Amino acid sequence: MARRREAVVRGAVSAGLVGPRAPLAGFLDADGIRRSVADLQAAFADVPEVLHTFAVKAGSLVPVLRLLAERGMGCEVASPGELAQALAAGVPPGRIVLDSPAKTWNELAHALDLGVAVNADSLEELHRIDVLLDGATPRSTLGLRVNPQVGAGAIGAMSTATAHAKFGVALHDPGAVEQVVRAFATRPWLTRLHAHVGSQGCPLELIAAGLKETYDLAERINAELGRRQVTSLDIGGGLPVNFADDEVTPTFAEYVQHLRRAVPGLFTGAYALVTEFGRALLAKNGFLVSVVEYTKESGGRRIAVTHAGAQVATRTVFMPEAWPLRIGAFDPRGREKTAPDVVQDVAGPCCFAGDLVARGRELPELEPGDLVVLLDTGAYYMSTPFTYNSLARPPVYGFTTAGGGTADQVRFGTVREGQTLRSVVVESGLDQVEALVSLVPGPEGGPGTD
Ligand SMILES: *Cc1c(COP(=O)(O)O)cnc(C)c1O
Repeated sequence: MARRREAVVRGAVSAGLVGPRAPLAGFLDADGIRRSVADLQAAFADVPEVLHTFAVKAGSLVPVLRLLAERGMGCEVASPGELAQALAAGVPPGRIVLDSPAKTWNELAHALDLGVAVNADSLEELHRIDVLLDGATPRSTLGLRVNPQVGAGAIGAMSTATAHAKFGVALHDPGAVEQVVRAFATRPWLTRLHAHVGSQGCPLELIAAGLKETYDLAERINAELGRRQVTSLDIGGGLPVNFADDEVTPTFAEYVQHLRRAVPGLFTGAYALVTEFGRALLAKNGFLVSVVEYTKESGGRRIAVTHAGAQVATRTVFMPEAWPLRIGAFDPRGREKTAPDVVQDVAGPCCFAGDLVARGRELPELEPGDLVVLLDTGAYYMSTPFTYNSLARPPVYGFTTAGGGTADQVRFGTVREGQTLRSVVVESGLDQVEALVSLVPGPEGGPGTD
């Protein structure tokens, strides 16, 4: 693993993809992504009917969606932008699931028109769907998201099944289950229940407990209605990722083993299943590489100033306890450094003091021109930039070592071009440059008087 990574970093330096003139780039492991998809599919191989969707927010890059689609996956989307990306990648509408707590009338109408599956987030949203369908039979599979309120995992912001979470119909609220049963009774087209119990930090026990409640609710609805109206269960994503070392744990197979014990009914074929994994498919299949621009000492602490900060590692910078990242130290040619460890901070380029991706970390002493590698950043990081300081979005490259494992055998392909300065300026209103001065009359004789 480490040897292969070094070959890729060395190959990237030789190819000029990262270095003094290209100080920051993301890299995605095309072989690894394929393997992760295969592991997911193998784990569910016994389930008669299953649609694996990829949670697009974890890797909103069209070539990534395309690769996943080519391996048979669909997409879970939660915004018009993500839906457009999935369609642009060639994902058939029938393999797209729209989840979002804030779907507008227009977004719902568009999804129903396309035949994209929709999970309503509330009973109010079901009323909108009633109006839009106007008695017609939908082409889309329609479901309802529920919140089994089983509690929080280790990261509050990632826990979607707490008592007050904003997602889904809160099942433990008084009268909620009865309301849900009635919602199904009056809508024969409502055939799916959806739960996504949480993301990173949610233990498997918690996810399983939430899915058990969801499964039991489906059984109850079907029993009360006297027909098998609920035919599919969307079990969400949220498999946690190990950010501590290279081991993939828990695996998809372990997840399924766990679920099988906790909710055996899920695997009998009585319900078709939909999954929505994001982080577990991509996180360990990508890393960011940045040049160390300067090093300095401040108050007795050594700091390496790099180009990878809050704009690409937003969560790590703002919530360092919840989102620690491993950092690798490489020399300017891309060879892993072996110098003795020194306690250092690794800082980003943003203009605020907290822009650090590691504090007091023991790493081989970094020098200007060296490279730092932010490991396990294939999901959410490089594809979800933050435009602070108008820093340009870095390029993202895919790689494969299928043709051989040495640095000169690694093959790269561009997934996303680095953002140009022209694009930075256009996105910040270039075409409207006069908008404000022309709104307010200028001083007599000034540029705004005519
Ligand atoms: C974010 C999200 C996912 C994916 O979560 P991961 O932790 O990346 O697997 C799946 N479903 C929904 C509804 C989500 O919001």
